[in-house]
Amino acid sequence: MDQYKVYGNPIKQSKSPLIHTEFAKQTDQAIEYTSQLSELDTFEQDIAHFIKAGGKGCNVTMPFKERAFNLANKVSERAQLAQAANTLSFLEDGTIEADTTDGPGLVNDLLANGICLKGMSILLVGAGGAASGVIQPLLQSQPRMLVIANRTVSKATELAQRFGHFGNIEAKAFNELDESYDLVINSTSTSLTNELPAVPSKIFKQNAYAYDMVYGDKPTLFVEWAYQNGVKLALDGLGMLVGQAAESFYIWRNVKPDLLAVVEKLRGEL
Ligand code: NDP
Repeated sequence: MDQYKVYGNPIKQSKSPLIHTEFAKQTDQAIEYTSQLSELDTFEQDIAHFIKAGGKGCNVTMPFKERAFNLANKVSERAQLAQAANTLSFLEDGTIEADTTDGPGLVNDLLANGICLKGMSILLVGAGGAASGVIQPLLQSQPRMLVIANRTVSKATELAQRFGHFGNIEAKAFNELDESYDLVINSTSTSLTNELPAVPSKIFKQNAYAYDMVYGDKPTLFVEWAYQNGVKLALDGLGMLVGQAAESFYIWRNVKPDLLAVVEKLRGEL
């Protein structure tokens, strides 16, 4: 059986082993996928050890995404742009390939839920690591415009500059948000503390879509707030989590698993 792992610290909460085991069952792939706690000073050694033991690839979560990127000798364009990686592939010739799959994970989940981004106006709230990983795939889906708004506006400005050549992108402060959008994505961590980012409710067009990258066992505050403001569909980040795993699985196994079936199974176990 081919061996894969997810490394992080902490790691106990990771749903990746469950998700990849479901993908493997669904697609008849003979793989074993387990989680591995890495200490802050042993991450690189742990990876080297796993490669020596025949590991084929791994996912990497907080706080090792930048270090995973630095370990690789071949990186995808999207990992290069994010300067971070969540997926490593170990090739027979010793090459370590790095990719980052959060962005495709989000776009795949939107598509799986019937949300086509072409021609849309999109507001991305937040400008942290998660936001930087999704901008390029969002722009490649050809929206009419993408606005990034962040509490610390300089971070939004930096992202708009970094990704400016991929499409129509603009940075704004929260208090400059005076338009409505077809899709509003919350990439801030506010839902983790049951708060909302300080953005006005007029950001939602009537019948718009909303997406919160955070997920939980009940609708997040942002999802509830979006519905109160007339959106047609508001999704939480569980599908993005499964979507990024599906993209890693595809990189390693060249097979696309069925996303929504696994989201449903996972939802039942939250
Ligand atoms: P970062 O720490 O890199 O960024 C946090 C972002 O949240 C920043 O933009 C920050 O703004 C903003 N923020 C935090 N508190 C507030 C507040 N009170 N009001 C307004 N803005 C606030 O985190 P990540 O970008 O890595 O992750 C963000 C969230 O996305 C996390 O909750 C994470 O769980 C989730 N996530 C989900 C994934 C999934 O698969 N579903 C994948 C990746 C992330 P500022 O710059 O001003 O501090």
